Amino acid sequence: MERDVVILGSGFGGSLLGWILAAAGGRAVVVDRDRHPRFAIGESSTPVADLLLADLARRHRLPALLPLARWGSWQEAYPDIGCGKKRGFSYFHHRPGAPFRDTPDHAASLLVAASATDAGSDTHWLRADVDAFLFRQGVEAGMTGIEGAEVTGIDRDGSGWRVGIRHDSGAADTLAAPFLVDATGGGGALARALGLPRDDDRLRTRTGALYTHLRGVGSFDRLQEEAGNVSTTAPFRSDDAAQHHVFDDGWAWMLRFRDDLCSVGFVRPSARWEGCVDRAAAWEALVGRCPSVAALLRGARPVREVALLPRLSRLWGRAAGPGWAMLPTTAGFVDPLHSSGIAHGLSGVARLAGLLLAPRHDAAAWEAYGRAVHDEVVWIDRLVSACYRVLPDFDRFRLAATLFFLATVRFERMLGAGMDCAASGFLAARDAPLRAALEAAADEVERGDAAALEGLRDRLAPFDPVGLLDPAARHRFAHTAVDK
Ligand SMILES: Cc1cc2nc3c(=O)[nH]c(=O)nc-3n(C[C@H](O)[C@H](O)[C@H](O)COP(=O)(O)OP(=O)(O)OC[C@H]3O[C@@H](n4cnc5c(N)ncnc54)[C@H](O)[C@@H]3O)c2cc1C
Repeated sequence: MERDVVILGSGFGGSLLGWILAAAGGRAVVVDRDRHPRFAIGESSTPVADLLLADLARRHRLPALLPLARWGSWQEAYPDIGCGKKRGFSYFHHRPGAPFRDTPDHAASLLVAASATDAGSDTHWLRADVDAFLFRQGVEAGMTGIEGAEVTGIDRDGSGWRVGIRHDSGAADTLAAPFLVDATGGGGALARALGLPRDDDRLRTRTGALYTHLRGVGSFDRLQEEAGNVSTTAPFRSDDAAQHHVFDDGWAWMLRFRDDLCSVGFVRPSARWEGCVDRAAAWEALVGRCPSVAALLRGARPVREVALLPRLSRLWGRAAGPGWAMLPTTAGFVDPLHSSGIAHGLSGVARLAGLLLAPRHDAAAWEAYGRAVHDEVVWIDRLVSACYRVLPDFDRFRLAATLFFLATVRFERMLGAGMDCAASGFLAARDAPLRAALEAAADEVERGDAAALEGLRDRLAPFDPVGLLDPAARHRFAHTAVDK
């Protein structure tokens, strides 16, 4: 089967890239070992992801994609594609063995709005639905979609790539194309075939996750009302947000979809998962450590088995070369904290679409993409690892999280001003002054020297256009994102 590009993996990244190329008249083939709809984790989107989606929809003339960039338009256009409303990021600090308690100054919480209205709200993606939708759209646009096929071999000769596949019927095929994109996520199909070195040891974040989907999870807003933790300045209901329940050595996410479905996962250092064989028992033990989370999950019913990934962070030594590239989320991944994965994946789709649709193959641009993606994973890791290093100190966790949000706000503004990801780098990775300031600040937050932290707000003022470090806000931020 001769094509212009072979894309391995039909998650949202591979499917969307295939759709864009097919819509532009390219001959793309997307192959996956699984079949849609299939479960996938990685569900909490961000304003950055929304901006990137909207830009992809407009730039590549995909009107059917645009509604996914906002909760309101998504509900109107595609009520059957599973989605949750995400007005922002909420973090609640739970003390061991005690129900959650906040103070009038919100000493135990942080709420950062992602959007000012429900209609313009960000989203959680029910990945089984979203990925299947994007795959179908690609096929309708002319992409060749192959499901249920294992990759059996990858070779390269003078004319390009030859990918051997075996269908689940047992039949074999060879796909040939001058370009090859690996969008297999943790599968790392191409990196394994090329024998690329791993760079996992570069990453400071070393965590694992235990997760599932449940029905019947209680409302945290209601629980807080009952406990008297009522805030008059909350910019959104915490149930309409990515809820982060922060513990002494990790955190749990709760992401609510419609139909009472909720994604729940516990993230802790990898070392804590060592020797964990009974996942259900590990789940019960973690729930039992935190009375408020236990209250939310009392009566909830899992709709699938609990899954465990004991080590999440990974990074391949190279992300691209002439004629081949990985999506960012295949090249490397850090951790779900602050939800960078979907947006990083979309930033790669944007950049690879540009490279593949360019009139001439520019080998240097492919190499530059690969170096940029590798560096961006290291940048995300620098910011995310600081949050884990300072636990259980919630004040410093909040500061470390704020550094991540400062990079995010900067990146959103760059995208809003029309800059493309190749120029800005993901999370403004190529903005050297911002990066130097945030890296120095992350070092200080980790060291925890009170005198140095005193001056942090002034030092970071040039990088804080929305006042995320303003103590008068008392950890409630109503509007930080640019409009989509
Ligand atoms: C526990 C956890 C929680 C996360 N939470 C978030 C979050 O809240 N927000 C966020 O933004 N990101 C999150 N992420 C990251 C997110 O999951 C990824 O960014 C996202 O799934 C990447 O999508 P993708 O399309 O690139 O790859 P994937 O979704 O991983 O899709 C890869 C596809 O490739 C196929 N495949 C794999 N190997 C092969 C092979 N050898 N041959 C053929 N096909 C193959 C698979 O079947 C799959 O369909 C999380 C990640 C983890 C691990």
